[in-house]
Amino acid sequence: MIKKEKIQKIFNILKKRYSVRNKKINPFRVLMHVMLASRTTDLVSWPAADRLIEKGKNISNISKMKINQIEKIIYPSNYYKTKAKNIKKTCKMIIEEFDSKIPKTRENLMKLPGVGGKSADIVLSFSYNKPVIAVDAHVKWIVNTLKISNEKEPEKIRKELHEIFPKNKRIEVNDLFVQFGKEICNTSRPKCWMCPIKNICPYDKKRLKK
Ligand code: SF4
Repeated sequence: MIKKEKIQKIFNILKKRYSVRNKKINPFRVLMHVMLASRTTDLVSWPAADRLIEKGKNISNISKMKINQIEKIIYPSNYYKTKAKNIKKTCKMIIEEFDSKIPKTRENLMKLPGVGGKSADIVLSFSYNKPVIAVDAHVKWIVNTLKISNEKEPEKIRKELHEIFPKNKRIEVNDLFVQFGKEICNTSRPKCWMCPIKNICPYDKKRLKK
């Protein structure tokens, strides 16, 4: 693992380059988005979530929709058949077990079909401003590449990041890493030549020269 001073330096550089969100997003919208996001880009999953909410209007109506109706609305999200089933079950469960409100704890969010730890953290962070770091593919790749964490499992990485970053920095760190991953340090082809932290990065030096 790299030293704390280096982590602070990385944080300061990214903070100058990227912004941090300043408003909460409706929890049902975020929940539908994360349920549609698996193997699907944001450009597909956000509009699909919005179409579903626009057609269904509320959780109760969506829980009564036919599965093939949901499938048509959320297509072309990958695995749309499985996702449609999970969305219907999730809406029913929210009504029956959570008084029609989106759960505010990780434990309860993870009881919903199709919602894992990362998805739960995204809802907690984006909708309820809870101090958690959602370990998605960008965050995992960046913290492993920069050796901020050597862990490979998202839950272990999350634990380590929560030990490194205090509660009041976690939302910020999450936003900075995700934007950095989307713009420069992406998992398939990091743009090392234009990277503002290439001098700190221990990534394969031969690749940095390309
Ligand atoms: S130098 Fe390359 S691998 Fe290292 S952080 Fe920058 S983009 Fe990522």
